[in-house]
Amino acid sequence: MKNFAYVRATSVKDAIQRVSSTESMYIAGGTNLLDRMKVFLDEPSQLVDVSRLDMGKIGRIPNGSFNGGLQIGAMVTNTMLADHPDVRRDYPLLSRAILAGASQQIRNAATVGGNLLQRTRCPYYYDTAFVCNKRQPGTGCPAIQGYNKMHAIFGASDQCIAVHPSDMCVALAALDAVVEVEGAKGKRRIPFSEFHSLPGNTPQRDTSLAAGELITSLILPPTSMARSGVYLKLRDRTSYAFALISVAAMLDISGGQIRDVRLAMGGVAHKPWRLTVAEEFLKGKPAKDSSFQEAAELALQEAKPLTHNKFKINMSKRAIRRALTVSAKGGGLV
Ligand code: SF4
Repeated sequence: MKNFAYVRATSVKDAIQRVSSTESMYIAGGTNLLDRMKVFLDEPSQLVDVSRLDMGKIGRIPNGSFNGGLQIGAMVTNTMLADHPDVRRDYPLLSRAILAGASQQIRNAATVGGNLLQRTRCPYYYDTAFVCNKRQPGTGCPAIQGYNKMHAIFGASDQCIAVHPSDMCVALAALDAVVEVEGAKGKRRIPFSEFHSLPGNTPQRDTSLAAGELITSLILPPTSMARSGVYLKLRDRTSYAFALISVAAMLDISGGQIRDVRLAMGGVAHKPWRLTVAEEFLKGKPAKDSSFQEAAELALQEAKPLTHNKFKINMSKRAIRRALTVSAKGGGLV
């Protein structure tokens, strides 16, 4: 690890000013950043600690377009969010997704804002004996010809085939969350679907954040459908492992017909992946297994598997079907 200066920000404005004016990075829980710094993937000259700023609350939104939804401060820890009674009751898939990730110790330290900014766990990215376009654009992607079991089946490019590692972000994608950020040019809101990026020709970029912008909070829009939410994660071992694939599903069913549906997947793309074609297909269909099966087939039609991850196709189809089946019964554990 390279030597760095450390300073504790006194306010959001102070933090933004410090990071905008130097080779600095924000730090909160540090559960991914410090790992990257230890192997010289990130070498900031200064860390600006934002963990003690007043962004650690969860509250009901009292008015406006998100009236009745939840606002979650960026410094809320994963544990606090997963355990919050309103989240457990109204957005259970978010609680389950968080508890499916990492260990209790990491969840106690990791923050909501940091969760959105964690970087891929592609082993070639972390091993500096290999070249990597995400580390250094233009050098190459050894994963394409290498061992790519954990890599993308959707949205990859010839520059990078990495996947986003977060469980929580898959639930947030299904919930149509909104990210509130602040930077030198002021505040703005970013729809969750536009927050993370695909690799394209800029694999070094993971998000649409401008330089120096700080995540200040998340908005969960109100939706009664979320109570039927399911998060199904499949992995090589039953705890403390990243997803081979995961599915977030929720359904609004009336009189046996599907009125609305949300489906998102993790472990399959450079960003949490919404299954919009399957969603459109399901609207108005009977809430039964044959509909779910057909939706799963449609969802995987555009998938492009690699040498070592062809298994993700059938695994994804079965997981989508199972998640929808459980959601149709009112949600719960899968
Ligand atoms: Fe680097 Fe992306 Fe290739 Fe992994 S998949 S080696 S992160 S360029």
